[in-house]
Amino acid sequence: MNVLVIAEHDNVVLNPQTASVLGAALQLAEQADVLVIGYQCEAVAEAAARLQGVARVRKADAPHYAHFLAENLAMVVAQMAGSYSHVLLPATAFGKNLGPRVAAMLDVAQVSDIIEILAADTFVHPIYAGNVLETVRCSEPVKLVTVRSSAFAMVPACDAVAPILALAPGPDMGVSRFIGNELPHSTRPDLAAAKVVVAGGRGLGSHEAYHRLLDPLADCLGAALGATRAAVDANYAPNDYQVGQTGKVVAPEIYIAAGISGAIQHVAGMRDSKLIVAINKDPEAPIFEVADLGLVGDLHEILPQLTAALCR
Ligand SMILES: Cc1cc2nc3c(=O)[nH]c(=O)nc-3n(C[C@H](O)[C@H](O)[C@H](O)COP(=O)(O)OP(=O)(O)OC[C@H]3O[C@@H](n4cnc5c(N)ncnc54)[C@H](O)[C@@H]3O)c2cc1C
Repeated sequence: MNVLVIAEHDNVVLNPQTASVLGAALQLAEQADVLVIGYQCEAVAEAAARLQGVARVRKADAPHYAHFLAENLAMVVAQMAGSYSHVLLPATAFGKNLGPRVAAMLDVAQVSDIIEILAADTFVHPIYAGNVLETVRCSEPVKLVTVRSSAFAMVPACDAVAPILALAPGPDMGVSRFIGNELPHSTRPDLAAAKVVVAGGRGLGSHEAYHRLLDPLADCLGAALGATRAAVDANYAPNDYQVGQTGKVVAPEIYIAAGISGAIQHVAGMRDSKLIVAINKDPEAPIFEVADLGLVGDLHEILPQLTAALCR
């Protein structure tokens, strides 16, 4: 088995989800290559080279990779993919943007969002918003797979350093142009990787209440903030806080869901959390079906009490 992992990064820091994707790769082979595409991304390549089980880091470094335009990146991945039995990407916005383009260029079917590897060609992944786990056997010559990072353990760094091989950059396809980005600045942990998530739904009632009630609890627990789509649509929280089928998939140690009904599209993004605590005034709310601990009552009373009790 010859496995290639596509690294996600910001040209400076290797996204930790890459270490989880490598964890999946090492279930297929003893070692895997990592492909780093970016601009002035030497530090990322060096971090990847220190991960356990990395045979080689292959690095394509050029100005037209600075902003990770999928059209440019896909060309590099597609050109290399033929030498590999498996190409693995994280099932993040980055991987979801890049993977299908590579699949189209290779004329193979992508296997998306795997949570388990049963054999080199057989994978388990959730469908219907996580209500069904489907087992698929892939007969493509190159298995192009996106990996749900929360389902695979991160590979640690080690003392050995894998060689970093520079690749000749591919062409600038010139079909898309980077205009700008607006990145939220937060001192809180990354939602997708946080050990504790405090999430709020429409039951919070307002942007002001969302932050007044959830911020102190998240601050003292060192938690990331999350939200339902309804809360995001109502502007209680920014778009990148959304958890669920069309948001982020999280699996923290503790997930506190306040004023969240438990719609399947939300549960699809948090059901793998180790301990789910739900606060809802409706005892029939579906969130209690997945919750380990349920508090039935008004969140305006319960959240300050919980914060006071936990954050003394
Ligand atoms: C294709 C598609 C994709 C979707 N993707 C996502 C997604 O990724 N993520 C997502 O979250 N949703 C998603 N949705 C939307 C989803 O179906 C639900 O509409 C949404 O999750 C509901 O959000 P909510 O629980 O905040 O709101 P509601 O369903 O309105 O629930 C609010 C809850 O708050 C409780 N409550 C109200 N007041 C209080 C109080 N004072 N104290 C305690 N409890 C209180 C109520 O009892 C209720 O249970 C998607 C929908 C579709 C169709």
